[in-house]
Amino acid sequence: MVKYLLPKLSFEYDSLEPFIDKQTMIIHHQKHHQTYVDGLNRCLEKFGGSGHPQYISSILSDLKSVPSEFQNELNFFGGGYENHRLFWDTLSPDSKSIPEGKLSDAIDVYFQNFQNFKSIFTVNSLGIQGSGWCWLVFNSTYNRIEIMTTENQTSPWIFQKIPLLGLDLWEHAYYLKYQNKKAEYIENWWNVINWEYVENRFSELSQ
Ligand code: MN
Repeated sequence: MVKYLLPKLSFEYDSLEPFIDKQTMIIHHQKHHQTYVDGLNRCLEKFGGSGHPQYISSILSDLKSVPSEFQNELNFFGGGYENHRLFWDTLSPDSKSIPEGKLSDAIDVYFQNFQNFKSIFTVNSLGIQGSGWCWLVFNSTYNRIEIMTTENQTSPWIFQKIPLLGLDLWEHAYYLKYQNKKAEYIENWWNVINWEYVENRFSELSQ
């Protein structure tokens, strides 16, 4: 039986300071992410999907193949699991601040330049009402990158978009340190992005 586990972080909880604080990281990872892991396992077990041969992203991208009474739950917990898995992987205490290579070229093609990309992504992030995520995704139909937002824990995979980079805009991601200053949290997040990870993910997908 396949069970999802809380992924280990590749860095220490306090290593993203001062941009993301230690206490937020501990609670976010050990409590919030664990809740999504447990919810996903419980949901898969309930509909007999715990032996599902596909990884959660494939299940999310074909959610209608799941019994309808479990779709909302799987969307929430499966999305929550995978969104956070990617979120941790795209964070780094040794961020190089800006992307390079093919990803940088694609950003210039679709968003003119990195600064413009950053400001469009920030505007989209600030525009989220309630809880949600802002994403840089790969649209494999058109072989291009796009910015999108999703509500709650809905994953871009639901829309057949492949997430490359995601910013968690739930209050649990920033409230302890930033309270109502969401813009400051967003601005500081740009200092801890693991661009190498995002670049590699993009390289594997694009032609
Ligand atoms: Mn979160």
